[in-house]
Amino acid sequence: TSIPPRTPGRTRLGVMGGTFDPIHHGHLVAASEVAGEFDLDEVVFVPTGHPWQKSHKRVSPAEHRYLMTVIATASNPRFTVSRVDIEREGPTFTIDTLRDLRRLRPEADLFFITGADAMAEIITWKGAEELWELAHFVGVTRPGHELAAPVGSSGVTLLEVPAMAISSTDCRTRVARHQPVWYLVPDGVVQYIGKYGLYLDDEDGSASTD
Ligand code: ATP
Ligand code: MG
Repeated sequence: TSIPPRTPGRTRLGVMGGTFDPIHHGHLVAASEVAGEFDLDEVVFVPTGHPWQKSHKRVSPAEHRYLMTVIATASNPRFTVSRVDIEREGPTFTIDTLRDLRRLRPEADLFFITGADAMAEIITWKGAEELWELAHFVGVTRPGHELAAPVGSSGVTLLEVPAMAISSTDCRTRVARHQPVWYLVPDGVVQYIGKYGLYLDDEDGSASTD
């Protein structure tokens, strides 16, 4: 891995975008590993507003996804959560997330963290060319997905992280089938899901796997 050197006086800020429906230990391990390898000062988790890739799918209300993300990250002094995407109108595009964070955190160099599956989609993202200027991209391994830097990209680092064969889709399906999600998601998130009866009427989960 080629890790960009630290610039004196600048914060190193990781950005972990996701639907987080629900947040699980795959997300948390990925963020923690990148923070360690890249010497990040902070990782900000950014729950999506309406994810454009999932517009045909059911997604839980943003406030539930935001609160589960807060619960899951609260105990880590370097983890924070941002509302920029859930407060922006319309579908969430990563280019807008990065522009907003640059404006809000002008002192920070941004490191956008993405799993192998999302990495493969980056070139199809709106404003892909400008993305490389706004942030350094870190693609992390994910079981079942091939990790490769997008063609034409620059400033992308690939990183192997402990394999966590967990997806939010699988967690939702398990809840609907009354199977446990203990140890797949943080304890507080298990309790939050139960408290609000989330995912009970999710179908067999076959509708979404991305
Ligand atoms: P869904 O099944 O609903 O798509 P998901 O588990 O893929 O949920 P997302 O919120 O879509 O979770 O993912 C947010 C980011 O976290 C993406 O960049 C994704 O690649 C990454 N990610 C999710 N799960 C893992 C995992 N187990 N290991 C590594 N990266 C992951
Ligand atoms: Mg996904």
